[in-house]
Parts: sequence; C-alpha cells; structure tokens
Amino acid sequence: MVTGGQAIRGTRVGSGPMGEMERGEDAASTEVLYHCCNGHTTTVPFSAEAAEELPEEWDCVRCGVPAGRDPENPPPPPSIQPYKTHLAYVQERRDEKAGAALLDEALARLREQRGTV
Ligand SMILES: [Zn+2]
Repeated sequence: MVTGGQAIRGTRVGSGPMGEMERGEDAASTEVLYHCCNGHTTTVPFSAEAAEELPEEWDCVRCGVPAGRDPENPPPPPSIQPYKTHLAYVQERRDEKAGAALLDEALARLREQRGTV
C-alpha cells in the first residue's frame, strides 16, 4: 500500500538532466579472470554482449603466454621452436609487436570507458 507522500521519493537526488546514465560505469560489464601457467592472473573486463561468448584464452598481460579461465588447468605455454630462420624470426617479432599494440589500444579504450584512467 502506498500512502501519501511516498511517491515523491521517486525523485532522484543528484542526477542531472543528462549525463550520469550515459557513463554507464558498471552498467553491464563483467570482469573475467584468466590464469596463465606462470601463476599470473589477468582481469579482463567484458561488456555484457561480449560476456555471452567469453574467449577461452586470453594473453597474460604480465608475460604474454595464453591464459585460461581455469586456475587449476592453465593452457600450456606456446612451444618454442629451437631453430628459426631469420625471416621467421622477423615475422614473428612483427606479429608480436602488432599484437601488443592492439592489446594496449584495447585496454586503453576499456579504461577510458570505465573511467579508471
Ligand atoms: Zn603470465
């Protein structure tokens, strides 16, 4: 039973005419932990849409090896080829750099969205 007076409580204190809702600080974002074989834990924030299909693996932000969601059973480190041609080495280096740059960019964007810079 709503008696007189209570209805007025619906008025939000401190919410401006616009703005607050748009930032969506914790709106629909979830943090998922990934564990690498070196014992690091990587926390990856996902949007609600992304969280519906979480990647099985995520590169550890500390050491770069694949990290998995099961702390008891992290993915094995990528096998290291004992011998490489110079070309293969150079190509790999380039990929690593591009990958790192992309990750940095993605993380920066995420931090921006979450306002935790
Ligand atoms: Zn690691």
